[in-house]
Amino acid sequence: MGSVAVSESKTMLTLPGDAVRQILWRFAGRFDLQMLVQSARSVARGTVARLVAAGERNTHEWTPGKAGMMEAFDRAGVTAAFMEPEEGGFIAGPKNLALALAAFELAWVDGGAATASMASFLALSPIHERGTHDQVTRYKTLAAPPQPGEDRRPWRGAFALTEPIPYVGVDTGMLSGKARVAEWKDGQEPWLQVEKRGRFITNIAFANFVTAAVGSDDPRIKGTCVVILEEGDEGSFDRGTPTKKLVHQLSSTGDPIFSLKVPASRIVGGYTVKDGVIVPNYNHGEIIEAVFRRTRVPVGLMTSAKLLSAVEPVIRYQRERFRGAEGSKPGSVRYEQGIQQREDALHRLVDVWAAGEAATSLGFAAARLFDELDPLEKVKTALLKERGVQGGRAELKALKESEQRAVELLSLREDDPRRAELEADFLVDYVLKDAEANVICPATKLWNTGHGANMMREAVSLMGGYGITEDCPGFLANKWMDAQLEATYEGPEAVQRRQLTVTMISEVFLAQFRAWTAQMRGIASLRPGTGACTLASAMQMWHWTLNHLQKATDPDGGKLYHGQRQGVTFALADALCWLLASRYQILDVLELEAHGGDDAVAAEGLAGIVQFLSDLCHTQAAQAAGETSRICAELVFGYNRHPAWADEAHQGCFLTSELEEYEETMPGITAFAVDVLKDDGSHPPKAGPCASCSGASEFLRLQNKLANCLSGSRLAKDRAAETVSKVMIPEALDYPA
Ligand SMILES: Cc1cc2nc3c(=O)[nH]c(=O)nc-3n(C[C@H](O)[C@H](O)[C@H](O)COP(=O)(O)OP(=O)(O)OC[C@H]3O[C@@H](n4cnc5c(N)ncnc54)[C@H](O)[C@@H]3O)c2cc1C
Repeated sequence: MGSVAVSESKTMLTLPGDAVRQILWRFAGRFDLQMLVQSARSVARGTVARLVAAGERNTHEWTPGKAGMMEAFDRAGVTAAFMEPEEGGFIAGPKNLALALAAFELAWVDGGAATASMASFLALSPIHERGTHDQVTRYKTLAAPPQPGEDRRPWRGAFALTEPIPYVGVDTGMLSGKARVAEWKDGQEPWLQVEKRGRFITNIAFANFVTAAVGSDDPRIKGTCVVILEEGDEGSFDRGTPTKKLVHQLSSTGDPIFSLKVPASRIVGGYTVKDGVIVPNYNHGEIIEAVFRRTRVPVGLMTSAKLLSAVEPVIRYQRERFRGAEGSKPGSVRYEQGIQQREDALHRLVDVWAAGEAATSLGFAAARLFDELDPLEKVKTALLKERGVQGGRAELKALKESEQRAVELLSLREDDPRRAELEADFLVDYVLKDAEANVICPATKLWNTGHGANMMREAVSLMGGYGITEDCPGFLANKWMDAQLEATYEGPEAVQRRQLTVTMISEVFLAQFRAWTAQMRGIASLRPGTGACTLASAMQMWHWTLNHLQKATDPDGGKLYHGQRQGVTFALADALCWLLASRYQILDVLELEAHGGDDAVAAEGLAGIVQFLSDLCHTQAAQAAGETSRICAELVFGYNRHPAWADEAHQGCFLTSELEEYEETMPGITAFAVDVLKDDGSHPPKAGPCASCSGASEFLRLQNKLANCLSGSRLAKDRAAETVSKVMIPEALDYPA
C-alpha cells in the first residue's frame, strides 16, 4: 500500500482531474492514450457541444453539420484509433481501452456523437476479428483517415444485423437476409446475389460499405455468414428513410434495403468449396459473438460517462439556486450553499456519483481485460492448432483440462509449491481471463446502461424543471433518454442477462468469485472504510443463493435455476452486476492510493481524494449489498408456497385455550406462539401461519451478518455529502449549454 492512509481525514478540495483518472483507470503510463483522450475531448466539448447547443439534435436528417462532425473525428485522430500504425493509425497493439476512452470522452457530451464514431469501428470489427488478410488490408486502409497531403475521403461503414420485424432482434438466429449463387463459372470465383433489409442501421446515410449478416437461400451455400457490401456494387444500395429517433440524433440511423451482386470473396473470413458447396469459414453467429464481446464494453462506458458528467452541472445548479434573491446575500448560507444546505439533495448526488464511479471502473476493467486477452486468444488458437484442435466443441474439450488446473490454482495456498507451475501455464492464464471477460462484458453492458439510465433520471431530477429543458447545462435530459438506447442496441438487456446466466455459473468463474470474496475480506482488514467487508458479505450471500437455487425446486418439483426460468436466473445476474461494479470500484481506489504519490499532480490533495472516493465505494457497496439481499431473499423464499389457514399445516398452530393450559407449566410460552387460533377456529389477520423454509436458517444468518456489515456506510455517505457541499468547481462548464 502507498504512503497515504485512508484514515487520514483530509477533505477533497477539487474534482478529481486527469492525473487522478489516469491512475484509477490505469493509463498513466500510456502517453498515446492520454493524447487520444485530449483530442477526443476537444472535439466533444468543441464541435459536438456546439452542434447540440445549436439544435442539431432536433432533426433526424443527416445534415452538413453532422457530416462535419465526422470530419472533426478524422482530424482529431479518433477515426485512426481503430487502425494499426501500418494502416494509418497511431496506437500499436490491442485497442479496447483506447476505443473505450474515446467513447467515454465523446459521450461525456453526447451519446449520438460517440455512437457515430464507434459505428464505423463496429462495421470494421467483423473484418478485423475474422476477416481474411486481404479484407483487413482493404477495408481498414480505406477507412483510415487521409494522411497529410493525401486527397481522399475515408470510407465509413455500417453494420447490418437487425432486420424488419419479425426477424433478427434479440434472437440473432432468425435471419431473413439471404444470399444465393448468382453466377459460378467453372474454375472461377462464384458471385453471390445478396438480399438484405436492415432495421435501425447506424451510419447508413453515408456508409460506403456494410457488413451484413445473411443466411443461405441456396443449396450451394452452407449456413450463414457475414458479407461485405459496397455502395458501388451492381444492384440496389438503397439507404432507406431515416429513423425518427428520440435519442442519439447526431448519429445517422435508417432502414436500408440491399439487393446486390458481390463476389464470394466478400464473405468475411473467406470460404472453402466442398463438394460443389460454398462453406463460409465462419458463420454469422461466430463473427457476431467475437465482435459484440468487445464492442459492448464502450457502450457501457458511454452511459457511465453521462453519470460522471452530471456531477459538475448539478453542483453548480444547487449552489447557485437562490443567488440574486432578496435575503440571499453573498456570504450567507443560502447564497453560498443554495440547495446544498439540504441533506437529501447532497445524498442523491452522492448516489449518482458513486454509481458513475462504479460503472466506469467496471467498464474500464473490462476494456483492459480485453486488451490482455486479445494477444492471449491468438496464442491460444495457434497452440491448439499445433495440437490439431481447431474451434468449436473440440476446443472447448481441449480447454477442459486447463480449466481444472485453473480451479486448482485458485484453491492453493499462497505458499504451495505447485503454484509456480500452474501460474506459468499459459492456457491456465487464458481460461481465467476468458471466464472473467465472459462475465464482465455483459455485466458492463447490462448494469452500466440499465442502472445508469435509472440514475440519469435521478441526475435530471436534481436540476428540477431546468433538468428537463434544452437549456439544462450538460444536456442532462438528452443523456437520460440516450442512456435507454445504450441499454437497447447491440443487444438489449435480455441478451446480456441470458449470457450472464450461462457464464456466471462456469466453474472457473465461480472459483475466481470465491477468491475475490476472500480478497475483499483481506482489503477490508486493511481498508475498512472502502466497504469491502460489506461487499464480501454480499458476495457470500449471492454465492450461497446460487448454490441453493441450483438444487432447489418449486412446490411442483420444477427446477429453479433453469434457462427457461428467467425470473430466477436473470434476477441473480442482476445482483451479480451490482457486486462486480462495486468490486472494481474498490480496486481502482486502492490503485490510486498505491500510485497517486508517483505523480506530482495526482499527489496534490491525494489523501482527500482517496478518502472521498473510498466513501463513494462504501456508499455503493452498501447499495449493492441491499440489492443483493433483496433479490436473494425474494428468490430463496419466494418460490415456497405460503402455508394457508386451511392447510393441514395449521393444525400445528396453538389454540388459545391450549396456550392458557401450557402457560401454567411453561410460563412465557405465549410470547413465542405466533400463529394462535381462537377456540372458534378464527385466526389472526394475516396470509396464513408463518412460513418456514428449508435451508432458511443459514440464509438468515448471512442476511443478519450482512445487515451488521452495513455499519458505517451511512457515515461514509454523510462524509461524502459534506465534501460535495464544499468541493470547488470551475466558474463555468467547459462546453456550452
Ligand atoms: C438508434 C438505433 C441504432 C441501431 N443501430 C444498429 C446497427 O447499426 N446495426 C444493427 O444491426 N442494429 C442496430 N440497432 C438495432 C438494435 O440492436 C436492436 O433494436 C436491439 O438489438 C433490440 O432488438 P429489437 O428492437 O428487435 O427488440 P426486441 O428483440 O423486440 O426486444 C424487445 C424487448 O423484449 C425483450 N426480449 C426479447 N427477447 C427476449 C427473450 N428471449 N427473453 C427475454 N426478453 C426478451 C428485450 O429485452 C426487450 O426488452 C439499432 C437500434 C437503434 C434504436
